[in-house]
Amino acid sequence: MGTVLLSQTPVMLTLPSDAVRQIQWRFADRFDLQMLVQSARGVARGTVARLVAAGERNTHEWTPGKQAMLQAFDQAGVTAAFMEPEEGGFIAGPKNLALSLAAFELAWVDGGAATASLASCLALAPIHERGTLEQVSHYMVLAAPPQPGEDRQPWRGAFALTEPIPYVGVDTGMLSGKLSIAEWNEGEEPVLQVDKRGRFITGIAFANFVTAAVNSADPRIKGSCVVILEETDEGIFDRGTATKKLVHQLSSTGDPVFNLRVPASRIVGGYTVKDGVIVPTYNHSEVIEAVFRRTRVPVGLMTAAKLLSAVEPVIRYQRQRFRGAEGARPGSVRYEQGIQQREDALHRLVDVWAAGEAAASLGFAAARLFDALDPLEKQKNAILGERGVQGGRAEMKALKESELHAVELLNLKSGTVRRNELEADPLVQFVLIDAEANVLCPATKLWNTGHGANMMREAVSLMGGYGITEDCPGFLANKWMDAQLEATYEGPEAVQRRQLTITMTSEVFIAQFRSWIREMRGIASHHPGTGACTLASAMHLWLWSLNYLQSATDADGDKLYHGQRQGVTFPLADALCWLLASRAQILDVLELEERGASDPVAAEGLAGTVQFLSDLCHTQAATAAGEASRICAELVFGYNAHPTWDEEEHRSCFSTAELEELEETMPGICAMAVDVITIDGAHPQKAGPCAGCAGSAEFLRLQSKLTTCLTGSRVAKDRAAETVSKVMIPEALDYPAAG
Ligand SMILES: Cc1cc2nc3c(=O)[nH]c(=O)nc-3n(C[C@H](O)[C@H](O)[C@H](O)COP(=O)(O)OP(=O)(O)OC[C@H]3O[C@@H](n4cnc5c(N)ncnc54)[C@H](O)[C@@H]3O)c2cc1C
Repeated sequence: MGTVLLSQTPVMLTLPSDAVRQIQWRFADRFDLQMLVQSARGVARGTVARLVAAGERNTHEWTPGKQAMLQAFDQAGVTAAFMEPEEGGFIAGPKNLALSLAAFELAWVDGGAATASLASCLALAPIHERGTLEQVSHYMVLAAPPQPGEDRQPWRGAFALTEPIPYVGVDTGMLSGKLSIAEWNEGEEPVLQVDKRGRFITGIAFANFVTAAVNSADPRIKGSCVVILEETDEGIFDRGTATKKLVHQLSSTGDPVFNLRVPASRIVGGYTVKDGVIVPTYNHSEVIEAVFRRTRVPVGLMTAAKLLSAVEPVIRYQRQRFRGAEGARPGSVRYEQGIQQREDALHRLVDVWAAGEAAASLGFAAARLFDALDPLEKQKNAILGERGVQGGRAEMKALKESELHAVELLNLKSGTVRRNELEADPLVQFVLIDAEANVLCPATKLWNTGHGANMMREAVSLMGGYGITEDCPGFLANKWMDAQLEATYEGPEAVQRRQLTITMTSEVFIAQFRSWIREMRGIASHHPGTGACTLASAMHLWLWSLNYLQSATDADGDKLYHGQRQGVTFPLADALCWLLASRAQILDVLELEERGASDPVAAEGLAGTVQFLSDLCHTQAATAAGEASRICAELVFGYNAHPTWDEEEHRSCFSTAELEELEETMPGICAMAVDVITIDGAHPQKAGPCAGCAGSAEFLRLQSKLTTCLTGSRVAKDRAAETVSKVMIPEALDYPAAG
C-alpha cells in the first residue's frame, strides 16, 4: 500500500457524523425526523441492547422484557411515527423515510427489535393503503400510543398472509384461508365466517387485531380480499405456538388459527353488492401489492444498518488485537495498529463499509421516492377518478399517453418549454416516479438483504473466533443470521427478482436508465474520483446486454428473455441492483459535498469525509462493474453452442497451407492466427474453434472499455484502507455487549 497516498489529499479523521448522514440521506431540514432518529436510537442502544446482552434472544417465548420493549417504543414516539398528527402521530405527510430511519436505528442494534416495531405498521398498512375512511380512522386511532394522561394500551396488529405448506408463501395466489357468509338477513349487514391458518405470523403473541388474506368459499362472495379480525370476535382466535426461530428473537412469531364471525364491514376497502354477491373493492393481491411495495424498503435498510454498525467494532477489535502481549509495547506499530498493519484486513473492511454505504444510499433513495410518490398517487387517482377510470386495465390504458410523455421528457434538454410543460403534468410525474419506485423497491429488498447477508459474513469473519460468539461487540453474528430473515420475509429473493424482471424493462424505466448513464458521465467529468465513469460504462454494458438478450435466442432457437427463463432474467436483475446501489451511493456523496459546507457541524473536516466516501464509491463502483460484466458476459455468450472441430464448423479456421501463402503478402499473419488446422486435420487442444456470436464484437468493445475504466479504483481502495487504519473511534461502543 502506498503510504504517501494521503500526503496530498484531505483525510477523514472521525467516523461520519449525524450531520453528515442527515445531508447524505436528505433529512437535514427535517427536524421531526432528526428527533425520531434520536429517540429510536435511545431505545435501541438502551432498552434493546440491554435485552440482547441479557440473553433475551435465547427464548422463543414472548417475555415481560420483550413486552417492555414495545412500551419503550411507544414512549419514544417510534410507534406514533406511522400515524397522522390527527391520529396521534407527530409527522405530517408521507412517512416512508420516517419509518425507514426508525427501522435503520433499531436494526443498528437488533433486527428483531426493528421488526417488532414495524410489524404493527405492516398490520395497519392494508388499512392505511386500501381501507375505507372509517376503517382508517378507527384503527389508526386505536393503534396510536396513548397521549399523556390517557389510560389505555395502544392496539397492536399482525399481518397474516403466509399459510402452512402447501399454501401461500412466495406464490400469493395459492390461498387456502376461507371466507363465507354466516348470516345475511334482509336489509342488514352480512356476517362473515373466516377460517384462516397462519404460518410465521409476526406480532401474533400480543396482536389485538389481524389483517388476514382470505379467499371466497361462497358463491355469494367474489374472489379474495383482506379482512380485519379482532381478538374479541366471536369464535376461535388462537395465537398458536411460538415459531422456533434462530433469528430476530426479539419479535414474536407464531402459527395462529382463526375461526371467527365478523361483520362484512371488516373487508379492507369495503365492498359492493351486485346481484346478491358481495364484491370486495380490492382483492387480496391488490391490497398486498400496495402494502409490500412500501414496507419492503425499511427491511432492506435494516440490513444496511447492520453493515455500517459493524465498522466501529471491527476497527476496535483489529487495533486492540495484540495489546497486552509482551512484544507489543505501547507506541509500537503492533500495539497501536494490531491487525490493521495488514492490508487484507483493511481492504476487507473497506469492502464491508462500501457495501453498507451503497445499501443505505439505495434504501433511503427508495424511501424518499415513495414519499414523493404518495401524494402523486393520490393526485393521479383523483384525476383518473374524475374521468371515471379506477384501477386495473382501464388505468393502464389511461396512463399510456403519460408514459409516452414521460419518455419524451427524459429525452429533452432541461429548460425547454416542452420539458417544463411535461414536468408540470402530475400524471407524467406520477408515471416517472412510479416506474422508478417499481424498480428501486425490489432492488433495495433484494440487494441490500441478499448481498448484505453475504457481506455480514465477511464482517463476522474479520472478528475471528470472537465474531461467532455471543460476546462479540455489536452482536455481529446475530446480525449475520438475522440478515437471512430480512432476505426471506415479505417475499424472498425470487419474488423481488420476478418483479424486477418485469419492471426493469418498462419503457419509462429504460428511458430513465439511459438518462442516468448520461448523468454518470457528466458527474465523471467533474468528479472522476467517484467511479462514476466506471459505473456509466457498466450501465451501458448492462443495457446493451438487456437489449441483446430480449431479442436473442439460445442454441436451440428458443427465446432467451421471458418470464419462465429465470436463468436469464434473474441474473440480469441482480446485475442491475449492483449498478443502482452504486449510483445512489455516488449521488449521496455529491449531495454531501454540495451542501456540507453550509452546515456548521458537517463542514468540519468535510473535505476529508468527502474524499473517503468518494473512495468508497469508487471501490464499490469497481466491484459493481465487475459483477455486471461477469453476469452479462455469461448470459450473452453462455447460451450459444460452442463450435466444434467438425467439417462444417471449422470452415472459418485457417489451414497451415493457407497461412503460409498469406504470409507472403501479409507478413506476421501466422503469429496472429488462432485455430489453425494442419494438413492431417490436427488442431489445438481445446473445445473447438473460438466462439464468436452475433453482436459479440460490440459486447467485447464495451466490456474492454469497462475493464480499462477500472483504472484508479485500487488506488482509491488503498487510500480508503489507509484512512480506515487511522480514523479515530470512540474508546468504547455506546451499547453493551453480552456478559
Ligand atoms: C420470522 C418470520 C416472520 C414472518 N412474518 C410473517 C408475517 O408477519 N406475515 C406473513 O404473512 N408472513 C410472514 N412470514 C412468512 C414469510 O413471508 C415467508 O416465509 C416468505 O415469504 C417465504 O415463503 P416460504 O417460506 O413459503 O418459502 P417458499 O415459497 O417455500 O420458498 C423457498 C425457496 O424457493 C424459492 N422460490 C419459491 N417460489 C419460487 C418461484 N416461483 N421462482 C423461483 N424460486 C422460487 C424462494 O425464493 C426460496 O428460495 C414470516 C417468516 C418468518 C421466517
